[in-house]
Amino acid sequence: MEGDELVEYTEIMVRYGELSTKGHNKKNFIDRLGANVRKALHRFEQVKVHAQRDRLHVELNGANYDQVMNRLKDVFGIQNFSPSIRVDKTFAATAAAAVKMVQEQVDHPITFKINTRRSDHKFPIDTFEMNDRLGGYLLQKFPDLLKVDVHHPDLTIRVEIRLNGIFLSSETIQGAGGLPVGTAGKGMMMLSGGIDSPVAAYLGMKRGVSMEMVHFFSPPYTSPQALAKAKQLTAKLARYSGSIRFIQVPFAEIQETVKEKVPEGYLMTVQRRMMLRLAAALTMKRHGLAIFNGESLGQVASQTMESMLVINDVTNLPVLRPVLSFDKTEIIALAKQIDTYDLSILPYEDCCTVFTPPSPKTKPNLERTRKYEQRLDIDGLIKRALDGIKITEIHNGEDFLNQNEDVFAELL
Ligand code: ATP
Ligand code: MG
Repeated sequence: MEGDELVEYTEIMVRYGELSTKGHNKKNFIDRLGANVRKALHRFEQVKVHAQRDRLHVELNGANYDQVMNRLKDVFGIQNFSPSIRVDKTFAATAAAAVKMVQEQVDHPITFKINTRRSDHKFPIDTFEMNDRLGGYLLQKFPDLLKVDVHHPDLTIRVEIRLNGIFLSSETIQGAGGLPVGTAGKGMMMLSGGIDSPVAAYLGMKRGVSMEMVHFFSPPYTSPQALAKAKQLTAKLARYSGSIRFIQVPFAEIQETVKEKVPEGYLMTVQRRMMLRLAAALTMKRHGLAIFNGESLGQVASQTMESMLVINDVTNLPVLRPVLSFDKTEIIALAKQIDTYDLSILPYEDCCTVFTPPSPKTKPNLERTRKYEQRLDIDGLIKRALDGIKITEIHNGEDFLNQNEDVFAELL
């Protein structure tokens, strides 16, 4: 049949989420979202992104719209988006495009309506007339397929009359929600190789936090795989922000010293305090605003409120816990959804499991903890660990586990 080729989408129209309500911060939000969308789409060289007050337009210029939309699904701050087709500013061109849309999307009788918006008020056809004429035209073209229902239509064809053309769209695809990464400031994420902290990182990023990962590792007690796994998790999470800085902090000397000097019941509490001191020092040095971790209330001994009170004693910085109130099953469901679960359950020992005593105190005593710590050269231990940090920029999709396959094979 003539005119049967597929609809050629020319742009994706992106609607903002919560940020529309942010008053005078709105401009920052829109600029950041525009930058984040550009970053997410950087490999589509021909794509142009225009961030405007009420919408963001992604001009495809021939790029594959399915691939572009797949990337947009991971950008926080987007409420939803619609693939649109741009035509010349005539009724004939608009009608021809609408006919194609119906041909492509409708194969059994349905109800529909036309929803016109006109931002170019000089255009001679107003919204009422466009709805009426275009609706009538389609009814006459498809008498057996279409019926008008303005209240609960199966299909809504949106027509936007703008200065640079008329845009038609009919599908609305749910975005990731949340706030654009970066609008909330920088956070330091304590990222282990476990299930919880990657989920906590995702949730923090969703609320606009630009994360840097802090990972404690303890060679020779932990393997290179354990470190590679934390980096691989970071690469997974980088799809929400393009790239993430990964800070690895050597932790073996601290663990050895703590193990030697502190009674077994307090090993875990003191180790956690050392971790938090290091995370706090890095946060200050790197101009972060808060520390994030993957603690969930009551999950293990270090995650009782009594433990948190004693561990938190070493810093005044906010320690934010996005999964605090989640059950393990809920965290696991989210981990599966963001595709970190399979990585997290790889059986590489992390630095804590190696030095975890059989029965850590669930209700440590603050005074006693402080007293035991007097046996340690806290400043020296912290300084040497900070001197040994290594920072890498990790990108979306980078591979750390497989590229080292040979190394691992030798180790096994
Ligand atoms: P996760 O699944 O996130 O490891 P978990 O339930 O195993 O959590 P713990 O191992 O007790 O809990 O750790 C609690 C939190 O402490 C983690 O969520 C993480 O934020 C932080 N943490 C633990 N180990 C490390 C590590 N090696 N490097 C950085 N942060 C860590
Ligand atoms: Mg853990």
